[in-house]
Amino acid sequence: MDFIIDIDDLNTKLEDRGWERIGLQFPEGLKPFAGKVIRALREGLGDENIEFIVSGSSCYGACDVSDKEFLKVEADGMIHFGHAEIPAIRGNYHIPVIFIEMQADVDATMVVKKALDSGLLKGVIGLTTTVQFVHELPDMQNLLERRGKDVRIGIGTDRLAHPGQVLGCSFSSALAVPDTDVHLFVGEGLFHPLGIALATGKPVIAADPRSRELKDLEEEKNKVLKQRFGVIQKLKDSGDIGVVLSTLPGQKRMELATSLLRKGRDKGKNMNLITASHLNPMSLRNIGAEVFVSTACPRVAIDDYSLFLEHGIVMATPIEFLIAIGEMKWENYVLDTID
Ligand code: SF4
Repeated sequence: MDFIIDIDDLNTKLEDRGWERIGLQFPEGLKPFAGKVIRALREGLGDENIEFIVSGSSCYGACDVSDKEFLKVEADGMIHFGHAEIPAIRGNYHIPVIFIEMQADVDATMVVKKALDSGLLKGVIGLTTTVQFVHELPDMQNLLERRGKDVRIGIGTDRLAHPGQVLGCSFSSALAVPDTDVHLFVGEGLFHPLGIALATGKPVIAADPRSRELKDLEEEKNKVLKQRFGVIQKLKDSGDIGVVLSTLPGQKRMELATSLLRKGRDKGKNMNLITASHLNPMSLRNIGAEVFVSTACPRVAIDDYSLFLEHGIVMATPIEFLIAIGEMKWENYVLDTID
């Protein structure tokens, strides 16, 4: 397994709680390890009467806790693996939840060394990462400082559990350190560093600890901006627009959705509200809107853009809609966030 879970600590927590029917929720990438985790928990607890139930539903992130699902099958409590709890929604669950963050079993300082040697890190550095590598932030910071760098790790909003952490819906830790010249994002994928680049307007270097690849985000940013400009034109030309409202507690933005409906109607657009827990193109494609504006997870419109487009669906963000109706300027374009 590429991740480390402290099974002994988890077993102690479970012994303290005395649960007998326990729900387990894993993000997609970790579901293959469910069997291994259950075996380790059984061995540690040594109690044959404990029943573990694995959620087979999809799991988007820490905003998508399957407490209601496990309540229906009378679980005493549940464990949500892989994500840090979102402080802003802490306690809003129907059964007790233990969050187990999974730490990547990779030495992230190796790619930080590579970034240092590349000469790309000039001036004051803003350091960010995702929850899988957040435990390595002190080592990364030490390494950078030993090489004479001035490093800033920002504390974001209560959407984020850790200083320096970013989520696809919050880059607030990067915004909390405005006096930086460059941001170093250590983690996988390009969505988070793209969000940081657009939110801060500063150069961003993405350093992937597994592949040890470095990427300057400038080119990717321009590519995505070109695509999003096209989406805004489509919104301008469309008469029928669907506003998608997520029913997941950590994604539900009712006020935003209703304000978009009102603003669109004031501009003469035919606006309809559509609810969904998990968005998928097959369920949306027959609804008949020309363009959808997603107030759900901000990643949907950007990361899954091509997936929706394959089914003839154009998915936009609330910010793109506001630009299309003249309430925001294109020059101020940023990714949508939930902060
Ligand atoms: S809203 Fe999206 S990015 Fe934010 S926690 Fe949920 S799944 Fe992750």
